[in-house]
Amino acid sequence: MASELCSLVLGRGLSCTKPRAHPPIARLLRPSLRVSGKMRNRNLSSQQKRQQAKRVPSGQFPLNMDTQSHNNNNSEAQESNVAGISRSGERTISSDDADSDINRQMNVAVSTPEETNIVIENDVRQELSSIRLEDLISMIRNAEKNILLLNQARIHALKELDKILSEKEALQAEINNLEIKLAETDARIKVAAQEKINVELLEGQLEKLKNEMSSRNSVEEGKHSILDWESPVILELNDLRKENELLKDDIQTLKLKLADISETEEHVSLLGKEQSALKSSFMELQSQFAKAQDDVSKLDSLQYECKALSIKVENLQELFDNARQKLDHPSLDLQHHELQKKVDKLEASVTETNMSKFPSEKFHHYDEILQQKIDILEKRLQESDVEIHSQIEMFQESVREFHHTLSKLKEENEKKSQESSLENMPWEFWSQLLLIIDGWLLEKKISANDAKLLREMIWKKDAQIHDAFLASRSKNEHEKVATFLKLTYSCKSPGLHIIHIAAEMAPVAKVGGLGDVVSGLGKALQRKGHLVEIILPKYDCMEYDLITDLKALDVVVESYFDGQMFKNKIWIGTVEGLPVYFIEPHHPAKFFWRGKYYGEHDDFKRFSFFSRAALELLYQAGKKPDIIHCHDWQTAFVAPLYWDIYAAKGLDSARICFTCHNFEYQGIAPASELASCGLNVVNLNRPDRMQDNSAHDKVNPVKGGIVFSNIVTTVSPTYAQEVCTIEGGRGLHETLKSSSKKFVGVLNGIDTDAWNPSTDNYIRVQYSADDLQGKAGNKDALRKLLKLSSSKVTQPLVGCITRLVPQKGVHLIRHAIYRTLELGGQFVLLGSSPVPHIQREFEDIANQFQSHSHVRLLLKYDDALSHLIFAASDMFVIPSMFEPCGLTQMIAMRYGSVPIVRKTGGLHDSVFDVDDNTVPVQYRNGFTFVTPNEQGLSNAMERAFQYYIRSPERWLQLVQRDMRLDFSWNSSATQYEELYQRSVARARTTTRV
Ligand code: ADP
Repeated sequence: MASELCSLVLGRGLSCTKPRAHPPIARLLRPSLRVSGKMRNRNLSSQQKRQQAKRVPSGQFPLNMDTQSHNNNNSEAQESNVAGISRSGERTISSDDADSDINRQMNVAVSTPEETNIVIENDVRQELSSIRLEDLISMIRNAEKNILLLNQARIHALKELDKILSEKEALQAEINNLEIKLAETDARIKVAAQEKINVELLEGQLEKLKNEMSSRNSVEEGKHSILDWESPVILELNDLRKENELLKDDIQTLKLKLADISETEEHVSLLGKEQSALKSSFMELQSQFAKAQDDVSKLDSLQYECKALSIKVENLQELFDNARQKLDHPSLDLQHHELQKKVDKLEASVTETNMSKFPSEKFHHYDEILQQKIDILEKRLQESDVEIHSQIEMFQESVREFHHTLSKLKEENEKKSQESSLENMPWEFWSQLLLIIDGWLLEKKISANDAKLLREMIWKKDAQIHDAFLASRSKNEHEKVATFLKLTYSCKSPGLHIIHIAAEMAPVAKVGGLGDVVSGLGKALQRKGHLVEIILPKYDCMEYDLITDLKALDVVVESYFDGQMFKNKIWIGTVEGLPVYFIEPHHPAKFFWRGKYYGEHDDFKRFSFFSRAALELLYQAGKKPDIIHCHDWQTAFVAPLYWDIYAAKGLDSARICFTCHNFEYQGIAPASELASCGLNVVNLNRPDRMQDNSAHDKVNPVKGGIVFSNIVTTVSPTYAQEVCTIEGGRGLHETLKSSSKKFVGVLNGIDTDAWNPSTDNYIRVQYSADDLQGKAGNKDALRKLLKLSSSKVTQPLVGCITRLVPQKGVHLIRHAIYRTLELGGQFVLLGSSPVPHIQREFEDIANQFQSHSHVRLLLKYDDALSHLIFAASDMFVIPSMFEPCGLTQMIAMRYGSVPIVRKTGGLHDSVFDVDDNTVPVQYRNGFTFVTPNEQGLSNAMERAFQYYIRSPERWLQLVQRDMRLDFSWNSSATQYEELYQRSVARARTTTRV
């Protein structure tokens, strides 16, 4: 590398071995300058010396350093000179000339310093005149280039040096390794040498031993030779003896076996006898049993006949008595009387005859004749009885007929008299009624439709309107209008037209309780004679198998969003017998093609779009529903959209009902987002409308639902009270308080068709409160399915099916798992969490119990499995922090799983503690605790376990009581029906909102 550098530098005319002042430059210096040049040279050489003293062995690094410093100094000198010289403006020389000059001067420069000085002075004097300024400049430039090259070379060399150093280090490491190996090898050689010596020693010993052995063998051989002749005989004898012994043993065992066999034979014959005896007695018993069965059946039929006969006899007797009392039938009575007389006469003559002593033969003959006569008479008596009875029946029949015609005549008569009274009503009466109706219409107290219907009734002189008028004479006008409207309602349709607009519906699109409510309430209302329709988004992830006859309509409904119209495809199908409309928006954001129902960043947009499209569908279909029922924040937009946009367009027949299933979720978003679905942000972002009560730049859809609906409900009476408090209202308590007149809590029901252990196809064995056998079968099936221990049938199994969110008391659910184990039970959890850290936490617990015999955690949503867990579990734990209604406690009870719950919201309204003396015994159905902590839960669980273990019979009664409780939608649906009807009636009595 150093040589490469040298050649590189030398190519430009520089020496790398002697870093002195460049001769050409020195040659060009004036005497005054020369001194300084010398000085510089001196300085450089002293610097060089210093550096040489420090030089590392390779010598390359100091060389490059020198070159660098030297060049630098030179370039400084050059620059000052170049400046002075260039100003003189003398002639130029060719570079070739300059180079030859440089070479010549270099040859001179290798002499001694003194000689060099003399030569330089002479040369300078001779050549100064002939060298021109240009030559000097080109030389300086050359020198500069050389300096640059040297610098590059130096950097290169430095890098190389680094490389070499690292290589050296690696080599050094290798050397070290080799040295270590060498030392190891040395040690091994030493050990091997030692071993070799040992082996040699051992070989020597072996040899010795061999020799000893051979000498001993020779001695032994001498001894053996003496006994050789007798050994085969002795050995043979010994063998024979042994064989003999063995044979003896065999004989003995055979004898024993023989004895055994004979004994067994005896035993077998005995058993045979016993068997035949048993057979015959069994046959006997069978025949006796058959006889007995025959007898029983005969007895049954006899009993039955007997009963029938005795009833008949009683009836006849009664009839007979009645007839005797009522009938005035002289001929029959006479006949009967005469016959009776004859009988008496004959009896008297018999006794007479008996008394007079006829010869025995005659007497006997006479007696027989008499007896025959008596028999004939008795027969006739019976016949007359039968005749009398049939006569009585005929008479009764005619009496009945008479009564029937009489009542008919009376009815007709009444009708006629009523009609004639209605007909006879003065015209003033009907005219007055007509005027009242018209007045109400003009005053907008009733609609044109209702007025038309009422007028028609008056025209026909309908008795109902006549009665209604008479009945409401003493009432105020408001009540009068309501009474009349009831008439129009009954003549219009048999029920209400109710439309649910929702984000969930079980079982096709269910996340939680909301889905159950929509289908459960819908079906119950349908059963009550109302027309119920459902509108849902068409999610890509729905359970399409559960929709019957799903098909797309040949129509497109366009709806507004973000300043444009978007097309919606409309699908129809039935779910659980309910008609459902599915809206599929053709929006580029593919709102319902997300593989999940909720939890998207644009949920506000997705559901405000859906709410608007649903109303657009109703509007374009020309529907005139009585009730539009929207649920939770996702469809709460329906309420303001209806009153702000659609009522004005003419979709104005309905009252709006809003149900909030959980005030935890309010869908709060920046106010501006409301504009997307066409709502007026300025109008609605006000404290009395949709503005969120805490963030004034935000809107709250739930608040909008409350403010803009005619009926507001939540899912249990206790929760309705809780949300009116600061703690429970999640910021909406004031809004709810001011809407208290229209706000009510209705406890949800459960779909008792879907949740029915006696028909449930998801469970292994169907069962009921009257036959609980199947419950144990399901418990066994679940244990096997989840690979839990089945060794103890009575070991209590605790179930828990829930969304794993803080509301459900996840920390208490975790505690319940461990407490169940401590109490000797088994625990099965089915649930999943939308909260990542909770899901992770439960995944860890699930892994911990992965192959445990008594605990299994299934972190997923599985409807079918949930049915089996309800059926299999003995207890069901729900330790919620708050619970709007809760369905699982009701489902659990229906499946005979006793609930252990925290007393809050709907749990408070549906579970009553077994030990609570303030509650009538027949309503006590579970175990409750109030304080939401581990102690509270443990206490309730301990009581439940004690009850289960110590009083199995009472537990059974509790299970049966729970299973028989009515949690159907019937009573809840009746409450909703009343709310709807009251609201509809109110709407008709007042002007449109
Ligand atoms: P919420 O509506 O707050 O989730 P509810 O008790 O009102 O609670 O309703 C929960 C419903 O969801 C019940 O029908 C329950 O069986 C069901 N459910 C909850 N989690 C699961 C799950 N992981 N798998 C199957 N069903 C579940």
